[in-house]
Order: sequence, then structure tokens, then C-alpha cells
Amino acid sequence: MVWKVAFISAAAAATVASVNAVTTNYTSSTDPTQITLPDIPQVTSTDPAQQCVYYNSPYSINPSEWPTVWDIATSNGMNTSAEFTALYNSIDWTKVPNFPPRNLTAAGGLDMTGYDGVNDPACWWSSSTCKTPKVEGINPDLYACPEPDVWGLTFDDGPNCSHNAFYDFLEQEKQKATMFYIGSNVVNWPYGALRGVKDGHHIAGHTWSHKMMTTLTNQEVLAELYYTQKAIKHVTGVTPKHWRPALGDLDDRVRWIATQLNLTAIIWNLDTFDWAANVQAGVTTETVDNLYQDFINMGTNGTFANSGNIVLSHEINNQTMDFFMKHYPAIKKAYSHVLDVATCMNITTPYVETTVTFPTFEQSVGTSSSSSANPVSSGTGASGTSGSSSVATTSSGNSITLNGPLFIAALFGLFVLV
Ligand SMILES: [Zn+2]
Repeated sequence: MVWKVAFISAAAAATVASVNAVTTNYTSSTDPTQITLPDIPQVTSTDPAQQCVYYNSPYSINPSEWPTVWDIATSNGMNTSAEFTALYNSIDWTKVPNFPPRNLTAAGGLDMTGYDGVNDPACWWSSSTCKTPKVEGINPDLYACPEPDVWGLTFDDGPNCSHNAFYDFLEQEKQKATMFYIGSNVVNWPYGALRGVKDGHHIAGHTWSHKMMTTLTNQEVLAELYYTQKAIKHVTGVTPKHWRPALGDLDDRVRWIATQLNLTAIIWNLDTFDWAANVQAGVTTETVDNLYQDFINMGTNGTFANSGNIVLSHEINNQTMDFFMKHYPAIKKAYSHVLDVATCMNITTPYVETTVTFPTFEQSVGTSSSSSANPVSSGTGASGTSGSSSVATTSSGNSITLNGPLFIAALFGLFVLV
């Protein structure tokens, strides 16, 4: 079938821009396939209003060896540390696209004064939602699941120990998502990050301190990405190949630096604005509910008849998690598949460590020789395993379903990655 060939091409294209190995120091004592969590309140509490209380763990860091939590990742002398200097010097900076760090306005937004927004030479997403680099040798952004009627499920800004009930919900629903973890949160709340990997979610980085990435210097961008990778690896044992910039703020300079670390950005094509409800002027609970409803309607009105979406939503707090849980039944009804990005993109090894694998799209939706166009009801657990299934086995060469809702679908049509 044509779409299969196209998938392989897309997967190959995603790695074409890989660069020579840079000098990194990612280490961990965690086997991501054998994660256990202790019986402490921060792990077992299901009260989303309960503030996290600091805990010691085998993953507690020596603060002198890391950036200051929630400060730019060059802080605490990391910019001159031997480790970071070796990393920085292993990169050929003569090739970095020559776009300047952007400025912030007094109000805290991006100052686009003087930028050629019409021609958008830097492929600056914040200016134009440009996703395909204009400079050679840079990993292009992923921003939509390619198969029809697929809701690409993503949550930003975790982990946090007050999110246990939310993770329980996803586990009960056998629902996987792509989780974009902030480095500072990972070192503060390591058991939350371990839960994400244990449950089989697709983990990606979301920078160390959640700054607007195009406003940072080359050194700062590198540090934000590197120390987040290092934190996730330190705690969970996996090194993500994907990341997401805060507020989608990236251009070809930032992308080029990410590419040096073999990182590819995952953006989105639908934004729930869940974080902004009752926070940003003009955005209410009703606004976000209406957006969710619009996106749900798109599942049945033909908008995604030829390809799917990636939806931006957040862990952050009880309100943002509630939005998703409230609308989830309708989402599942309106879309053929709700999937994490690794699965919907056929990225079977989204981490450097190949011991953790994800199913192909075909495996996850339970495609068989049947040509029935009628979806089979999901959630009955034909995989026979719980949420940790995706770290269990590679099982290549057969159609064991390891992840997500089980549908038998007729897979027709041409897959086009635009
Ligand atoms: Zn964020």
C-alpha cells in the first residue's frame, strides 16, 4: 500500500539530518523497563490540590552539578563547567544559522519589530507558524499525525506529584500520550517522571526553565536542551529524541542547535489554550470548552478525513487536566484513534535507548487482514496488559497490539506529510 512506503520515507527523512555525535554525559542507574515506585504520599496521593512536598530519592541531585532549578540552564556556573564546555566545543558553531536572539517586550511578549515576517527567513514559528526549516541540515518539526481521524494527544509542563489521579485516569483508559517534561520539574519530582515512563507514555523534553527559546543565546539554548535531556535520562533511564519549545517559540537557529543534540521538535496544529482559562484576559472556562468541542467536531465533519492532528494540552493543574478528562469520551467517539505522537508517527524507538519501543501505527490500531471498515470497540484490553506494555517487548514481525485503543480499521488513502 502506498501509505506504507510513504511512512518509511518520512521516518527516514526524520533522521537524515542526524549529526555526528557531540560530547554528552548522559548517565543513569535506572532501567526504564524495570521501574518501581515507592509507597509514599507523593506517589500515591490522588488529590490534585495537594501541593508537592519535597522528598529525597535515589534521583536527588547534587545541586552544585546542575543549573539552578527554574533559572536559565547556564546558571550556577554551568556555562563554564568542564562538562558543558566539552559539549559546546564539540559543536561546529561556524555552521549555526546567523539569526540573532530575539527580544522580549516590556509586557513579556516577543518583540518582532524589524523582523521580515513576510519572507520569514528564519522560519520563526512564532511569526508565521513555519515548521519546515529554510536552512539545510536541520530536523523539520513534526506537527500532525499523518493518518486520517487521529487525535495526537500531548500534554506539556509535567511532571508533578499532584497529577497522580490524571495518570490513573489515562492508565485506566489504556490511553497513551506524549508528555513534554520540564527539566526543572523532573529533578524536583522524579517519581512523577518515572510514572510517565512506567506507564508507557512517550516522554519528550520541554526545556530546563521554560523560557522563550529564540530569546536565548546559542549557549543558553544548548544548555536548556542538554540539561533537560540529562535530567530525564538521570531519573528515568531514557534519553528522548524529541522536544517542544515553550509556546512553540523556535526558529532555524534554535532548531539547528537542537539538531546537534539529535533532537526533533514536536509542535501542534490545534491549541486548546487550556492553560489560559481564567488566567489570560478574555479566555474563560467556556472558551476552552468551546475549543475542545470545535476540535471534537473536526473529527466527524471531514476536517481530518485525510490526515490527523496534534493537539496541545497541558498537565499544569487541576483545571487543565479536568478539561481533557471531561472531553475525552467525546474525543474517542469522534476520532478513530487517540494516540501518542511516537505511535502515530511510526517512531518505534523515540529514545536513544532501544530497550524501550513503541508500536507502529498499524500495530497499535490492531490492523489485521480483515478489511472491515467498522471500528471495533476499544478499551477491552485485547493486548492483555496494562499501561506498561510499551516497555515490555519489541515483538516485531507480528501484529500484537501494545498501545492505545484497539480498532480494526480500513487503512486506505494516501499519506502525505506536508
Ligand atoms: Zn509549556
